[in-house]
Amino acid sequence: MEIDCIFCSIYAGEIPTEFLYSDDKCFVIRDINPVARIHLLVIPTDHIEYMNDSPDMVKMVVRDLFSAAITVSESEGVAETGYRLIINQKEDGGQEVPHLHMHLLGGELLGSLD
Ligand code: AMP
Ligand code: ZN
Repeated sequence: MEIDCIFCSIYAGEIPTEFLYSDDKCFVIRDINPVARIHLLVIPTDHIEYMNDSPDMVKMVVRDLFSAAITVSESEGVAETGYRLIINQKEDGGQEVPHLHMHLLGGELLGSLD
């Protein structure tokens, strides 16, 4: 069954997008609608919708996601100044794209969560 998913289409090369990092486990792109000077998306290549529906797949890929985040934080120059990682889940989390992804925000002082 073919999945109609924007992030799967990007990884398949169907939507021209710059890859800041990619391997067979995950890839990193710039968010099309950035909310910080640096706003990246760290995305597993497997189509995982919600973490709670696929805990075993999440456990398999979490190391790769964090490893890619560390790599691009360095290549994007925010490793020293700092950054924020966010994963939105379902309606209350404000998730727009139902393919697991981690936002990496930085390049400026981010607002407090309070
Ligand atoms: P979320 O609300 O956590 O599901 O985040 C989805 C993010 O994907 C949003 O910040 C969008 O701006 C971003 N986005 C949607 N389509 C694209 C695209 N084609 N390329 C890059 N980022 C995208
Ligand atoms: Zn997908």
